[in-house]
Amino acid sequence: MTICRIPQTVSALLFDMDNTLYTNQEYVRFQLESPVRRLAEIKNTTFAEMQREIAEYRKTWAASNPQSGAPQAGAHGKAQAQVSLGNIFLALGIPIEETVRWREELYEPAQYLKRDPKLRDTLTALAASFSLAVVTNNPVLVARKTLAALGVEDLFGVLVGLDTCGVSKPHKAPFLKAAELLGAPPETCVSIGDRYDIDIALPLELGMGGILVDGVEDVYSLCSVQGALLNS
Ligand SMILES: [Mg+2]
Repeated sequence: MTICRIPQTVSALLFDMDNTLYTNQEYVRFQLESPVRRLAEIKNTTFAEMQREIAEYRKTWAASNPQSGAPQAGAHGKAQAQVSLGNIFLALGIPIEETVRWREELYEPAQYLKRDPKLRDTLTALAASFSLAVVTNNPVLVARKTLAALGVEDLFGVLVGLDTCGVSKPHKAPFLKAAELLGAPPETCVSIGDRYDIDIALPLELGMGGILVDGVEDVYSLCSVQGALLNS
């Protein structure tokens, strides 16, 4: 876990979902690959060729977008600037609304995820002091199913998904929408997620706090920094 910034007063925690509230490489791989298979079908090409095109786009994008100062954190090494899959698909001619529909059709979180009592205990403890929201690049429907599969759906007052604002993180709209719906001034929110460029860099620019995690194991440890969040 890398604590990038904790504001003076904290009233709300904005959680990324995938790779943050659960860690499941198989499901994450499925989420990355299944829309690419559909895109390949539409473009009448192979999955391998589509993967190659996307890798090429990521490389070009990273070269033309300066690094956002991501810390060299964790096992995954996050030094390179990242672009969301939704924005890659948009660049390849697939509107965000179409990406939302594909994901709603393709993703069934309950096939991969199960109830996580340790996550529930952690979030229950945090919810005693802070308002909790999920801000995800998945559609709200998928977020709802994911949280239900993990057994924590009732602990989040607000879910902001790809279809809430029609834009993909890192756009400021989803973060500000979550703060607004929670009734929390942005400068009292802390964004928690596994990708610096997607989940942390922009919230820091908005005056929010940021905590970079390497998966749900780090989220379990958030109670150990709860004192810092309360007494900041
Ligand atoms: Mg994530």
